[in-house]
Amino acid sequence: MKPNIKDLSFKEFVAFLVERKHPSYRARQVWQWLFQKRVTSFDEMTNLSRPLRDELAAAFSIGRLKIERRAESRDGTIKFLFGLADGESIESVLIPEAHRLTLCVSTQAGCGLGCAFCATAVLGLKRNLTGSEIVDQVLEASRTLTDERRITHIVLMGMGEPLANYEHTLRALEFITDGDWGIGISPRRVTLSTVGLVPQINKLMEETRVNLAVSLHAPNDELRGQLMPVNRKYPLKQLMDCCRALPLPRRKRITFEYVLLRGVNDSESHARQLAALLRGIPSKVNIIPFNPHPQSKFTRPTDEEIARFQNVLHDEGVQINVRRPRGDDIQAACGQLQGEAIKEARREKGVAAAI
Ligand code: SAH
Repeated sequence: MKPNIKDLSFKEFVAFLVERKHPSYRARQVWQWLFQKRVTSFDEMTNLSRPLRDELAAAFSIGRLKIERRAESRDGTIKFLFGLADGESIESVLIPEAHRLTLCVSTQAGCGLGCAFCATAVLGLKRNLTGSEIVDQVLEASRTLTDERRITHIVLMGMGEPLANYEHTLRALEFITDGDWGIGISPRRVTLSTVGLVPQINKLMEETRVNLAVSLHAPNDELRGQLMPVNRKYPLKQLMDCCRALPLPRRKRITFEYVLLRGVNDSESHARQLAALLRGIPSKVNIIPFNPHPQSKFTRPTDEEIARFQNVLHDEGVQINVRRPRGDDIQAACGQLQGEAIKEARREKGVAAAI
């Protein structure tokens, strides 16, 4: 099979052209066709000469993702199940709000980090997505929109750990954020969420200007180690020291995600520990009431319990936001992006698909 042209970086494509004696400005034209006009064949690139179009078609494919399923929630959230060329599948979620349209994007098929409450973790890591498979989620979702609607925000909070797939994620971010030949979504409107891989966080903050969200989920090492095995490799002190030292421009904050699990990490004492942990870090806390799923024994706190936790943080001066579940009737809420993939995994193992 021919290589997918979107798996080359802009620089690599320029090198390809120059080597074949084409002017380097052609790279910008081709990339604009791919990422701005979203064409699916070289034939449509009408400002290129016929021989160049033929040469590109002989060397590359323009891969696409197959929309295997599309489910729309009562609240307008749309979940896409995309099929990849090798039969794996991934999910993306389009979340309309008053003044923004956010796409939640996957960076791996499955995930190898093993967080105790997460549905994707049940799958284990299948494989990293390539740069083209990440950016194609944005292109395919955009193709389903009418002309006046555009995706305004991207969150890398779908399946997988983006910083465990660093190189491909960075390639995709370049396609998504470049304002000249790329999709042109400003890095200020892109948020990457991580379990807290410290060296890669440092690298990301040096190499990009995207927003950072860190999944914290517990305010001490003992509990965090139980919920998130990664904490044994990068314990809280190391993670928080890293966050404290990040070169954030003025007024920019790190988002800390905290999934509230009933009776596990939701007491007033946990809230106070969390506030103490965040002192001195420009931060805001995104509280995500746990979204139940069949693979998990955890439950969601009641509204009163959520409010109690929230009030303690508020009194401690922590900036908070409680995330409403979106698309929970179509299993598109945070941490639920596994439905089809789980069924497939079970089928492979010969277990009856019970969900
Ligand atoms: N690997 C990245 C991005 C994945 S998911 C990360 O861990 O940050 C985005 C967020 O959803 C993470 O904070 C994750 O911990 C959280 N999450 C996972 N399962 C969840 C569930 N069932 N309910 C609520 N949030 C969940």
